[in-house]
Amino acid sequence: TYRIITIDGPAGSGKTTVSKLLARQLHCVRVDTGALYRAVAFEIHRQHICWENDAALDAFVSGLDLSVVLENEGMRVLSSGNDITPFLRTPEITMLASATSARPAVRSALLDIQRRIARQQDAVFEGRDMGTVVFPDATVKFFLVADLAVRARRRFDEIPDPAKDLSRIQADMATRDNQDIRRTQAPLKPASDAILIDSSRLTAPQVVEEMLKHL
Ligand code: C5P
Repeated sequence: TYRIITIDGPAGSGKTTVSKLLARQLHCVRVDTGALYRAVAFEIHRQHICWENDAALDAFVSGLDLSVVLENEGMRVLSSGNDITPFLRTPEITMLASATSARPAVRSALLDIQRRIARQQDAVFEGRDMGTVVFPDATVKFFLVADLAVRARRRFDEIPDPAKDLSRIQADMATRDNQDIRRTQAPLKPASDAILIDSSRLTAPQVVEEMLKHL
């Protein structure tokens, strides 16, 4: 069996940066599971799926053909063979991913693809339910937290658009966190055996240094 390291936490807690650095250090792949939920949202949007309707969502999910290309710490998502990675990070797809990821049909569709990757190589998985649902037997589990204002600021600094708005980013982030925490399916929470790290006052390399002490 392979070494699986999970990193869960809310938006902007540093999962992406930290998981990339950690995967590089450990010479293993990194899997951004949020990108899979975003890919589902992108296809729901593109195909105009009435995702609140059970039958429509089930039909959509059974026709879904997602795959990933792992390139060390980078990852691309293919839908029916087409690379849709460049379309996944808009504010609209971000909010739709949060809403649609609460649907059990969506979550169970993505379970297999995530576990299949873990059966093939060592990997760092980042997401919301890696340690609780997808990989309960992971080698080491981390849960990152940070103050909302710090997380919103980090996201703000990443966005190139000069029309970006810090208060809007912070409000969207709070909405998304609440949706992720309150949902009944795989709610965002630390696994009982997860190591908690507050990244509010740490740089990404400092967080990685802390993680390496546990590996
Ligand atoms: O991590 P990222 O911000 O890309 O995730 C987008 C959305 O996908 C999250 O707000 C969350 O609702 C959902 N998600 C999830 N489970 C995961 C990863 C992401 O529900 N493992």
